[in-house]
Amino acid sequence: MNTLQHARAQVLRQIEQACLQAGRDAQSVQLLAVSKTHPGEMLRALHAAGQRAFGENYLQEALDKIEALSDLEIEWHFIGHVQRNKTKHLAEKFAWVHGVDRLIVAERLSSQRAASQAPLNICLQVNIDGQESKDGCPPADVPALVQQISRLPNLQLRGLMVIPAPHNVQAFADARKLFDQVKAQHAHPEQWDTLSMGMSGDMAEAVAAGSTLVRVGTALFGARDYSQ
Ligand SMILES: *Cc1c(COP(=O)(O)O)cnc(C)c1O
Repeated sequence: MNTLQHARAQVLRQIEQACLQAGRDAQSVQLLAVSKTHPGEMLRALHAAGQRAFGENYLQEALDKIEALSDLEIEWHFIGHVQRNKTKHLAEKFAWVHGVDRLIVAERLSSQRAASQAPLNICLQVNIDGQESKDGCPPADVPALVQQISRLPNLQLRGLMVIPAPHNVQAFADARKLFDQVKAQHAHPEQWDTLSMGMSGDMAEAVAAGSTLVRVGTALFGARDYSQ
């Protein structure tokens, strides 16, 4: 086994362990490989190891990789902050956008997603622990946003995405509670199935609290080098 195959197997095992401990089905948590800063060839190698869902944060870098890896079946997730004037490429090229935190952004994605494409999957980003200078809407805004965004065409509002401060395990429980509460506001509640939380350092805690999708970079690819 090569290094990436080995790392992936290990992460999958950790997820499985966390599910087992929480009394959850191991299939109930999806692994999103967060590949920002890593070259396309590493994504190709991880794809060969069986990984299909990849998450990127920076639009231009993501578009370059989508182009370079267009021969592969990859489900592309955008997990960075969504700028209002950059929605067009997201609507056209991605399967998922996790960083939606305002109605105007969702409206633009909805109108820019072609009706001939599969609906764009959306997670609403919530600043669950009220961190200053963090993206995400306040928890109090979530019910109204779910009500509004779930009624837009060409989108499927799948759930919530949170990035709590490190070691804030309570925030995962709060996110889970909010996730359960606001389902009643959704126009199509059967689409409400995704709680995007947990990264390399806190996967197990997130899974214990009910995460259905962990976003993992470092534990798969190693440390990131931002100097390039
Ligand atoms: C970079 C990033 C991750 C991955 O973090 P690791 O600690 O490397 O696993 C997950 N989610 C988001 C939103 C990120 O920006």
